[in-house]
Amino acid sequence: MPPVLVEERVRLGLERLRLQRMAEVLQRVCEEASREHLSYLDFLDQLLQEEQNARDARNVEIKTRLARLPYHKTMADFDYSFQPSVDKKHIAELLTLRFIEQAENVLLLGPPGVGKTHIAVALALEAITKGYTAYFVTMQHLVDYFAERTDPVAAKMRVLLRPKLLVIDEVGYLPLDRQAANWFFELVSRRYERGSIILTSNKSYGDWASLFPEVAIASAILDRLLHHSTTINIRGESYRLKDKRRAGLLQKPESA
Ligand code: ADP
Ligand code: MG
Repeated sequence: MPPVLVEERVRLGLERLRLQRMAEVLQRVCEEASREHLSYLDFLDQLLQEEQNARDARNVEIKTRLARLPYHKTMADFDYSFQPSVDKKHIAELLTLRFIEQAENVLLLGPPGVGKTHIAVALALEAITKGYTAYFVTMQHLVDYFAERTDPVAAKMRVLLRPKLLVIDEVGYLPLDRQAANWFFELVSRRYERGSIILTSNKSYGDWASLFPEVAIASAILDRLLHHSTTINIRGESYRLKDKRRAGLLQKPESA
């Protein structure tokens, strides 16, 4: 059979087996293999790697979409010199994702604009790249989601227990009523030692009691969150305001 027909048959076979990327690059990899006198095994290895890489990239893309991140930024986009209270070594340790392996939590505390969400997003993206699943919600979304009457709370709880990493952003802007506090407590308790939470808050732990209807539930939640956890306290000024401040549109905050 003439070689062109064989190539066509192989390509169709690959497509039928849903090895799409291998089908696409078959011709190029064949040509390279004959030019570089690759062994059969090396040729097959190259072709398989193309398929594997394409699938990995696709998985990352799908998981990133499912994670519902508010924006996509990594720690390469983070200016450490602007925020000296963020320790680069500490972040490097978190980027190894050992905390996810050990189902530990990360708490990012600080005033608005200092990079809490940025760091949470960067860690989530790193987790997704390494094959973990992640999901991002704000506290407001979480409460609204639980309050919707569409699905039973148990089903929603399962959705929030599934991702290996759950980011809960902006805890502390809204005080929780008893119902919301109970949902939050159940979520934190059920993820405890099973799946990591990254939580961001503008409130220090001392102020947490004021967020909840009772001190007891605030301390029960904190107890579970903090047992296996790292806290990053970010001090300093808002990155959002730095350009305005530089242009003289705003006064320096008194504490700075
Ligand atoms: P918050 O602490 O309120 O969650 P964000 O993390 O959303 O603040 O930061 C606000 C904006 O400023 C984002 O666009 C973020 O990427 C950017 N940003 C904050 N800190 C830094 C930094 N140190 N380097 C680069 N960009 C930063
Ligand atoms: Mg934020």
